[in-house]
Amino acid sequence: MDLSALIESYKDCPCGKAHTSVIKAVEIDNGVVFEAGKILAENDFPKNILLVSDEPAFAAADGIMESLEKSGFNVKEYIYPIMKKPLVSQVHFIRDLSVGCDGILSVGTGSVNDICRYAAFLENKAFAIFGTAPSMDGFASSVAPIVSDEGFKVTFSTNQPSVIMADTKILAAAPAELKAAGFGDVIGKKIARVDWEVSRLITGEYFCENVASLVEGVVDTLVSLADRLLLNDEAAAKVAMEALVLSGLSMSLVGVSRPASGAEHMIAHFWEIKQLELLGDHDYHGKLVGIATVKIAEEYRKLAKIKEVFPGEEFIDWAPVEEAYGPNLYPDVKKLNEIPITKDIDPAILRERWREIPEIINRFVPETDELIRLMNLVGATVDPAKADLSEKLVSDAMNYHAYMRNRITLSRMRPMLKI
Ligand SMILES: [Zn+2]
Ligand SMILES: [Zn+2]
Repeated sequence: MDLSALIESYKDCPCGKAHTSVIKAVEIDNGVVFEAGKILAENDFPKNILLVSDEPAFAAADGIMESLEKSGFNVKEYIYPIMKKPLVSQVHFIRDLSVGCDGILSVGTGSVNDICRYAAFLENKAFAIFGTAPSMDGFASSVAPIVSDEGFKVTFSTNQPSVIMADTKILAAAPAELKAAGFGDVIGKKIARVDWEVSRLITGEYFCENVASLVEGVVDTLVSLADRLLLNDEAAAKVAMEALVLSGLSMSLVGVSRPASGAEHMIAHFWEIKQLELLGDHDYHGKLVGIATVKIAEEYRKLAKIKEVFPGEEFIDWAPVEEAYGPNLYPDVKKLNEIPITKDIDPAILRERWREIPEIINRFVPETDELIRLMNLVGATVDPAKADLSEKLVSDAMNYHAYMRNRITLSRMRPMLKI
């Protein structure tokens, strides 16, 4: 992927923001596992490195060690049996292991990358990723969600990797459930787009047409290849990985997560923290985002049928919110919403501009039948029960997810609409 040409094309963007990136190279192709050492060397990655992976990912990336050694890298390795939960204690463990190394190479997807990303940031060391499955859009991300000692998921600011590599042969052979999860994370961008557009319309929030179009383009390309994603098809796997890398990149290009995260991510995050609290672990992020997308899309499509609204100031009844979040999480939620974000919304403007909202929804949000057809095509579930989500967790998330963040979404406006 010619990343520098892409960044160059956003020079003097009309949105006024300088779109830059610290990522030097993104290489997604057949045979990259045998070129990893060469690619890192070409991008000035330091020679003394710590390689961190888990057994399934490291087995999939067979050949990477030889490639690194051939290019003169001194590699210390640590392979977890299986890495699912990114605990803060593991970040400290990797920091200690990295003593004497100048860079960290993470081989895998999801949690292993997040732990290494944060450890490299804290130790001020170079960081690169070799991705083994197209399962989530965090590869190019500059934040790392880590589970605290108290069991909460905390998002830390870190650095992006300087190099992202993936071999399409490995991606194409990745487990179906990981590919399905990646698709769920990508399809959610349709909702994120609506929320960003609506906030721009009602509050004048910053918006970048170029970055929004970049994400729209990669989502639509992936959707057009949905029927091939489950096959061992390298072209489809490449498109999926590029979509995930670019949607992650889009957030750092604008400095906010708007292009890739809206109400569907708040719902998924609600489920993640509740599952962590109740079960000690949560299902795949992208799988939860996919289920959330289908649910909230249905609701947004219903809102699109309303031609006129009579909004007023919002009144929040905190009792059911407290009940939904529970005693551990509620204090933070209450504090976050001390000055509700809806104070930025003028009811008169919302009333006047509402007529444009149905058009935005209908433009970006697929019909429920179409969404379900796509999810079925890639083997992604739309059934909350198949992700260990009770009916109560579903209704609580649908009703109260918008208090997860101090950010305007279409769903956050519902109390003002009194419908
Ligand atoms: Zn821009
Ligand atoms: Zn996501």
